[in-house]
Amino acid sequence: MEKDIEYIEQLLFQNSSNIDELRHYAEQYNVPIMDKISTEFVKQLIRIKDVKSILEIGTAIGYSAMHFASCDPSINVWTIERKEEMYEQAISNIKDFGYESQVNVIFSDALEAFELLPTDQSFDMIFIDAAKAQSQKFFELYEPLLKDDGIIITDNILYHGFVSNIEIVRNRNVKQMVKKVQKYNHWLMNHENYKTTLINIGDGMAISKKEKL
Ligand code: SAH
Ligand code: MG
Repeated sequence: MEKDIEYIEQLLFQNSSNIDELRHYAEQYNVPIMDKISTEFVKQLIRIKDVKSILEIGTAIGYSAMHFASCDPSINVWTIERKEEMYEQAISNIKDFGYESQVNVIFSDALEAFELLPTDQSFDMIFIDAAKAQSQKFFELYEPLLKDDGIIITDNILYHGFVSNIEIVRNRNVKQMVKKVQKYNHWLMNHENYKTTLINIGDGMAISKKEKL
């Protein structure tokens, strides 16, 4: 399994973009950006679905936002980040890599950023990748902005293997958070307006598609 992942990553990195230079920074400073296989998987969904407008919750240093934007020059990404150092890093990276016209970073807690988005903006895709205990709140708050045939992707639904094996978690706060992720996954699978599937690439992702009502 590990070997398979290494093998695929190696091939993916052969056509890698200059955005991947940021992986070194992320590793050095422990910024939890998406792994390569998940990133390329989501980008392929963007291409297949011809996604043009994306809302991302959790920018960090702008790695995933720029990767998504790189699929096509007509794609626009709005991404929300609450930590000032991260926001500053993202702004500077987005400028350095030339994505200012496609990626808009909003400096705010995502639970308070609804009004900061352009009015009447709706999204083909929402990518939830911020505080893991709050995924359901983000989903409920922003889901009304998803287009009728849109998709919502939630990252880290397996959270380091703890979600399927909570017994090994010693730290109380981590345990609380992992319980919330379990609850979220269950809630999401039973959401009557969405069809969801869960996949175990990277740190686990949920892919939810709005049902035609
Ligand atoms: N999507 C990025 C990684 C995001 S890491 C990538 O793959 O490249 C998660 C980020 O979410 C962190 O930078 C954290 O500061 C931010 N975050 C956590 N909770 C948040 C909230 N409530 N509102 C906005 N940002 C939040
Ligand atoms: Mg993530």
